[in-house]
Amino acid sequence: MIDRRRFIGAMGAGSLMAMFPLSALAAAPRVVVVGGGMAGATVAKYLRLWSGKTIDVTLVTPATSYTSNIMSNLVITGQVAYSALNFTYANLTKSYGVKVVTGTVSAVNGFGSNAGGTVTVVNGPTSTQLSCERVVLAPGVQFDPVPLTENAALAAPVVHAWQAGQQTLDLQKLLAGMPNGGTFVMSIPAKPYRCPPGPYERACVVADYLKRNKPGAKIIVLDANPGIVAEPTNFGNAFQSYFAAGVLEYWPSTAVVSASNTSVPGRSQSVTVNVAGSGAMMPAGVSGVRTLAGDVVNLIPPHRAPQIASLAGVVPAGSRFAPVDVLNYESTLVRKIHIVGDAADTTLPKAGHVGNQEAKICAAAIINAFKNQAPDPAPTANSACYSPIDSTRASWLTVVYQYDPATKKMVAWDGVLNQPGAPTEAASPSTGNFSKMSTWYKVLMSDSFA
Ligand SMILES: Cc1cc2nc3c(=O)[nH]c(=O)nc-3n(C[C@H](O)[C@H](O)[C@H](O)COP(=O)(O)OP(=O)(O)OC[C@H]3O[C@@H](n4cnc5c(N)ncnc54)[C@H](O)[C@@H]3O)c2cc1C
Repeated sequence: MIDRRRFIGAMGAGSLMAMFPLSALAAAPRVVVVGGGMAGATVAKYLRLWSGKTIDVTLVTPATSYTSNIMSNLVITGQVAYSALNFTYANLTKSYGVKVVTGTVSAVNGFGSNAGGTVTVVNGPTSTQLSCERVVLAPGVQFDPVPLTENAALAAPVVHAWQAGQQTLDLQKLLAGMPNGGTFVMSIPAKPYRCPPGPYERACVVADYLKRNKPGAKIIVLDANPGIVAEPTNFGNAFQSYFAAGVLEYWPSTAVVSASNTSVPGRSQSVTVNVAGSGAMMPAGVSGVRTLAGDVVNLIPPHRAPQIASLAGVVPAGSRFAPVDVLNYESTLVRKIHIVGDAADTTLPKAGHVGNQEAKICAAAIINAFKNQAPDPAPTANSACYSPIDSTRASWLTVVYQYDPATKKMVAWDGVLNQPGAPTEAASPSTGNFSKMSTWYKVLMSDSFA
């Protein structure tokens, strides 16, 4: 339960509160952050850093370290070591005093009033309740189950490797074990999904791997979207030039109906799809429902905010993600609950760089709220991303977002023309971009975890 002294200190008491800086509060206001990924680690760090360590911040995470999705496509092709994806929370504790609790949050209760609420953390047989004035949910995404045509218990798993971890290593092994002349089938869900360029990046680096290591093998890319969602020029050129001649087929407007592990003799897996698109990079005359055989089947299912967000009451019925006010990332449904990163429903892309930006806007707004001050009325955020195209060349995209008071949304902005704009992509993939990609990754991950 929240005590009276803490309640007054944390929530403010009108004009009286405005007279005192945060450090003058009788008891430190408490924030619990759920999930220690790109957005959660960043919000925990910046709540401590920008408040002069006057906010008590507890980060709840199921594991003692985080496995980055960013760069994981190059782990699948064996070019980057799996260990390069690993980030611990040691610096958040040592440098900023973030309290790290290992466990999974199973319930979030009591928020919506002025008094804050509780977060229930489960770790094995132990269940603990943490009280706090505000909670930040940063749980990432969960995936819809792949519709399997046979008993799921009998079927070999269909890997997505869209949440880095064991599946990243599983897919690496499957790719390495592909026969010459084999087929790698991958699918892309309809947007919004995490990392708009990510599936096309995977298609490119897998195609490049097949070209170099598995003579006669090909990748078939089944895209539920009508066309390439991000960096269409560079990915489109790569598909049509570097990976033409049978290495890569691209099937737009193609939805996965089901997957099977046993139905195609001689092949380990198959996918049934409904093809509504056409294009120069797919076989002529293919349309409607048909079944493809694959030596490796890598389906990326549609995603949604994880169950904890629904349990907390921040995902409207029939929606996949949690709507927020992008001035402070507070839920539009339950006050004092904030949502950052991929679980939030915003106009911003679901990306690690963006999760890092949202986390900073949210942290600044929470610090202001504890001082009874309004959030920044005109936040900006940016997204930057490098995409490997093959083993030596990378592309990039960048875009700035500006708050639009008329729609209350973040809109892509052209700062030169001072009007709504669009993402910019690299003029062409280059080896220079490939080496800058490592620097960008180090800087972004340090900003979140160090
Ligand atoms: C292959 C691939 C490549 C990518 N490349 C890029 C890139 O180049 N640039 C880029 O910007 N983005 C990239 N992304 C996207 C980026 O990884 C995600 O957008 C980003 O990780 C989202 O951050 P998040 O904090 O919302 O979620 P996550 O980073 O997934 O973190 C969520 C954390 O919350 C934890 N969690 C979930 N539920 C609970 C619970 N109940 N209790 C406690 N903890 C919980 C999870 O275990 C997880 O650790 C890529 C993604 C993929 C799949």
